[in-house]
Amino acid sequence: MRNLLVLLLQLLLLTSPALTQTTAPLDGFTAESAAAERRWEEQFRAVPSPASAREHLRRLTLEPHIAGSKEDYATAVYVRDQLRSYGLDAQIREYQVWMNYPKSPTLLELITTHRQKLETREAVVAGDPTSSNPKITPLFNGYSATGDVTAPVVYANYGLPNDYEELQKAGVDVKGKIVIVRYGNSFRGVKAKVAQDHGAVGCIIYSDPADDGYMQGDVYPKGPWRPIASGQRGSVQYLFDYPGDPLTPGRPAIEGVPRLKPEEASDLTRIPVQPIAYDVARQIIAPLKGPVRPRGFQGGLPFAYHAGGTDDVKVRLKTDMDYKQRPIWDVITRIEGADLKDRWVVLGNHRDAWVFGAVDPNSGTSAMLEVGRGFGQLLKSGWKPRRTIVLCSWDAEEYGLIGSTEWAEEFAGELKDKAVAYLNLDAAVSGPHFGAQTVPSLWKLMRGVTRDVKDPKTGKSVYQQWQDRTSDLRTEEERHTEGEARIGPLGSGSDYTPFLQHLGIASTDMSFGGDYGVYHSAYDSFYWMDHFGDPGFVYHVAAAQVWGTLAMRLADADGLPFDYTDYAFEVRGFFREAMRLAGWRGLVDSLDDKPLNAALDDFAKEAERIEKARQDAIKSNDRAKLVRINDALMNAERQFIDQRGLRGRTWYKHQIYAPGIYTGYAAQPLTDFRQALDDRNAANAKEGLERIVEALKRAANTLKQGH
Ligand SMILES: [Zn+2]
Repeated sequence: MRNLLVLLLQLLLLTSPALTQTTAPLDGFTAESAAAERRWEEQFRAVPSPASAREHLRRLTLEPHIAGSKEDYATAVYVRDQLRSYGLDAQIREYQVWMNYPKSPTLLELITTHRQKLETREAVVAGDPTSSNPKITPLFNGYSATGDVTAPVVYANYGLPNDYEELQKAGVDVKGKIVIVRYGNSFRGVKAKVAQDHGAVGCIIYSDPADDGYMQGDVYPKGPWRPIASGQRGSVQYLFDYPGDPLTPGRPAIEGVPRLKPEEASDLTRIPVQPIAYDVARQIIAPLKGPVRPRGFQGGLPFAYHAGGTDDVKVRLKTDMDYKQRPIWDVITRIEGADLKDRWVVLGNHRDAWVFGAVDPNSGTSAMLEVGRGFGQLLKSGWKPRRTIVLCSWDAEEYGLIGSTEWAEEFAGELKDKAVAYLNLDAAVSGPHFGAQTVPSLWKLMRGVTRDVKDPKTGKSVYQQWQDRTSDLRTEEERHTEGEARIGPLGSGSDYTPFLQHLGIASTDMSFGGDYGVYHSAYDSFYWMDHFGDPGFVYHVAAAQVWGTLAMRLADADGLPFDYTDYAFEVRGFFREAMRLAGWRGLVDSLDDKPLNAALDDFAKEAERIEKARQDAIKSNDRAKLVRINDALMNAERQFIDQRGLRGRTWYKHQIYAPGIYTGYAAQPLTDFRQALDDRNAANAKEGLERIVEALKRAANTLKQGH
């Protein structure tokens, strides 16, 4: 009888889901430490709560808090004091950076066909209580030049090089004209640069209803999409040249560091650039004459778009920018590692917003505070992370990734020595759909962690929800990862850029996305989030759970869960694609693909070897070996950095990942090689390829030294 009871009890225990979970193997952990890690992680994930996440977001979005303002400083103090109240060591760090505010709303005036002043502010929306806040900045672009120009208007579609080619074919010259372009298909700074390079004297950027307005669905406040009187603010810094403070490229914007003169900064436009709403764009585009739009130029406004360029439609664009050295405030919080305090896992999210920034970025800030609250509770109950965890609340990301870049530049030496990974979270929540971009070595980790976090709506895991939704999008080439959710490459447009592309630190980014039509407008507000983005704040909780679990797993691992076999696979795919492009461009005969394929084979072989060594060392719990393996896994990513930098933009140093010059946000993998192919420049393509080969050889060698 007694024995039967014991047996029954054992059976019950064995089948109880909590127990199976805590005894399941965990990549990177010995059997004993896996059980402990699972328990700590579960304890952590029980902390973040919808009520608390909601309250953080409410507090953070009470006032517009553009970088450098006193309201922005108040959010830094709020974040610091919250983290301190959880028992964490949080400090504010200040930088002095060159930034503009509009002195007065931009003057935009139709001169012909008739004289009419046009609106450059957003309207008050009934129902959204913050939309009437008098401190809302009028529509403007960060780093627009001050200028006063009057000229005929040309509609240039998305404002990319091929759009100007089409215009030229149609006989439309943009020299001396003001171009009006629509948002989309690239970073807006690219649009400003391409306009300036083609001789335009001003650039107006509008949000076309086809992209995020009524063509997508009901507009705010009835639905989540952009209403007629809403525009998209945003920086037009040449981020693809270098991010951060324009006057201190490569160096921290602190006292004693010499500044460039503003006219020497190569990442700034010289022409006035101005965003407008689509009901204003309609008044400029509708009367345009000239040839009917080339193919692909038509947008969602209810008339046929013409290219313009004649005297029929002239506008005056007068921007008045207040440029100054302004203070910004990062909040840096350190949780000292118990065992390896000189190995860092860095988490970052920006805090500054163009207006209220409920989605972008404060859903991420709310998640960071919940992560901090969770870690605080764990520390009190005896958890000690093996490695140091650093939580970073960045400022001035919107102007050009400034807070993160200045900090990364200031501590570059230490970061190169110590940083295991950088985990970014920007606009964390605008809906329920999970997505991620990471370096390939962290694919498995990202998938593993999302398997352990519950999707609040479906009750499945976050991973399952993500995989179900993306399984239709798989291509032939992705058979290697068949059945696995697709993880994209990192381009730019958020704070991982200085860590990955300047310093060579393995990075991740992720978000829960959805129908989000109020990006960089005054309607990206608490009310919008509460009604459309995440009513109930359950995805804020899920974001905190995924992010915190990622950090814990990296901080506590015995053998870091980095997989370079996936990296080799991904680079091979990039190379195959690039060589196809070389074929189309007629460059394939001038290129030798053997050295790269050989380097890739070696790299893949070393990846496999170190993975086996890592598994063995974990099994035998060989601490000395694990230290060597872990350092090799951390340093292999560093080897993709070439100190000479990319062609013509030496701040970017990573040979595999960088934003394209004409994409600005999207990654252009094997960057210089790909750019040379686009430019049909055989000599540059050869050199680009050589540098990738060298980088792969360095990485293979680093992995080899680890085992
Ligand atoms: Zn953002």
